[in-house]
Amino acid sequence: MDPFPAASASLATIGPYLGQMQIAYFSMEIALDPKMHTYSGGLGILAGDTARACLDLDLPVVFVTLASRLGYLAQEIDAAGNQVERADPWPLEELATPLRAKVAVVLEGREVWVRPWLFPLEGMHGQRVPVLLLDSHLVENDERDRGLTDRLYGGDETYRFKQEVLLGIGGLRVLQALGFSIRVYHLNEGHAALLALDLLRRYPLAPDPGRPDLLAYDAARVRSQCVFTTHTPVEAGHDRYPYDLFEGLLGDYFPVEQLRLVAGANHLNMTELALNLSGYVNGVAKRHAEVAAQMFPYYHIRAVTNGVHVATWAHPAFAALFTECAPAWSYEPELMARFDQLLPDDRVWDAHQQAREDLFAVIAERTGIRLDPALPVLGFARRITAYKRPSLLFADLDRLRRIHEGHPFQLVLAGKAHPADVHGRDLVHRIHAVMSELAADIRIVFLPNYDYALARPLVAGVDIWLNTPEPPLEASGTSGMKAAINGVLNLSVLDGWWLEGCIEGVTGWGIAGHPGGTAERLYDRLEQVVLPLYRNDRSHWIWMMKQSISKIGYYFNTHRMMRRYVSEAYLVREGAIRAGVRMPAASASMLQAPAR
Ligand SMILES: *Cc1c(COP(=O)(O)O)cnc(C)c1O
Repeated sequence: MDPFPAASASLATIGPYLGQMQIAYFSMEIALDPKMHTYSGGLGILAGDTARACLDLDLPVVFVTLASRLGYLAQEIDAAGNQVERADPWPLEELATPLRAKVAVVLEGREVWVRPWLFPLEGMHGQRVPVLLLDSHLVENDERDRGLTDRLYGGDETYRFKQEVLLGIGGLRVLQALGFSIRVYHLNEGHAALLALDLLRRYPLAPDPGRPDLLAYDAARVRSQCVFTTHTPVEAGHDRYPYDLFEGLLGDYFPVEQLRLVAGANHLNMTELALNLSGYVNGVAKRHAEVAAQMFPYYHIRAVTNGVHVATWAHPAFAALFTECAPAWSYEPELMARFDQLLPDDRVWDAHQQAREDLFAVIAERTGIRLDPALPVLGFARRITAYKRPSLLFADLDRLRRIHEGHPFQLVLAGKAHPADVHGRDLVHRIHAVMSELAADIRIVFLPNYDYALARPLVAGVDIWLNTPEPPLEASGTSGMKAAINGVLNLSVLDGWWLEGCIEGVTGWGIAGHPGGTAERLYDRLEQVVLPLYRNDRSHWIWMMKQSISKIGYYFNTHRMMRRYVSEAYLVREGAIRAGVRMPAASASMLQAPAR
């Protein structure tokens, strides 16, 4: 491939952004457009909603990610109910513009070049947010290296580490090659933590040969530039690499004995690296910040609860209704606080019926199955993995059948398992086995290939949104927020964001610990409260829909989230940032500058 095809943009394309963008947001995945398969799930959707909020608020943020030309995975379900995965390519050339810049990182002794492609998000008032997609398909590169930016979360440990090198180190160098002068780097999850290391090695301090246990680099200077958001309390969600791999790939890029002081004694832990080199660290909900603080005791971990971009997730019928009530709602979602008073009941119900019809049409088109308009629909869609407990609802099939006899309902499910998650793939299979077992009694649909395009009709078109994770492992969760702003009521385990969003019997229902077990509690709620209310008291149900829209929409949105990041993380002065950081007792001394 020609590194600079005739159509490639000159620096003039990026010129307008250079002086303005002061913050760089690094994310392994980002959902910008349903046609761009540059994301896998919640983390990428959040990054996309963040970018759309930056656009609305006209914030000076440039986004950096990998091109992921082959996407994450397209999911099919075979006749035996097993997940079958295919590559999920997308046409980079049609949607983004190559920039005339490239940078190299030396991996295994070879220069690996990456080039940024520009995808400009454009707003209705002329605002633009640049997104840079890093691509290694260049003639300069050895054949073996050209596909490194292709497969999101694909390949083995080495492939993944190389991707993180290209994102963190390559991404930083790309911004500099293009001429950006960035003040703050926001690391969305630990994948790009090597960026902080690349900064660190630029600030050496006079070494003290007698004290190899002290860090000979100015970590405080890096911390004044880095913000880190951690996204999961699940152990497997924190990337760790053997130091042998680091040395094998990067050689003497950074002395490993020094690296151990900031990235973990035994493994290169990307989370620890980011924690030690970021002046502002946060979890994505209040409970998650507490759990993260227990996992990483010596750090000050703040909480900025996630949100969703309301204009992206409100069904068009609701968006139109909201605009009638408060024309600026999507720019100022705080206005939704009064929607419980402003929205007329019949209009809310009508908008919901339109969202239902749209979902029913999608289901009929994709599966040939027609749902019954008279029955409530329960929805459950998320990454299929053990801690999300997608099969909790199926813990006792006889009980579920009995509930259905008294209060008939139907169920829509979706979600992909990561190909390497054996248990997750097994859960997909088990769900399908249960579906055939229940087929004669309960209408259940599994929609393959849960993605951005499917999520929009799904979160808006069901009646009840179910989430049953194993506490405290749901860091935040966002799909329930998307549902809530469409008047879909949440019935969820009290964990993540729902601990903050649930007002019992008002915005939805919480499932807390129960002596009989969580499944028992879920069944009780469904049978005794939720399904009878849907059938018997329409006006109270609509009252709850309006409570959900207003009390969740006004707060759990990315506008509020970004305003908090700006005022608390991006704009804070250097000293104030540092004052907030507590280093581990051991590392605190290690990180002191050696005496000169
Ligand atoms: C919102 C969303 C997610 C994340 O949902 P959670 O509630 O955090 O599990 C994942 N995938 C898609 C396609 C989404 O739209």
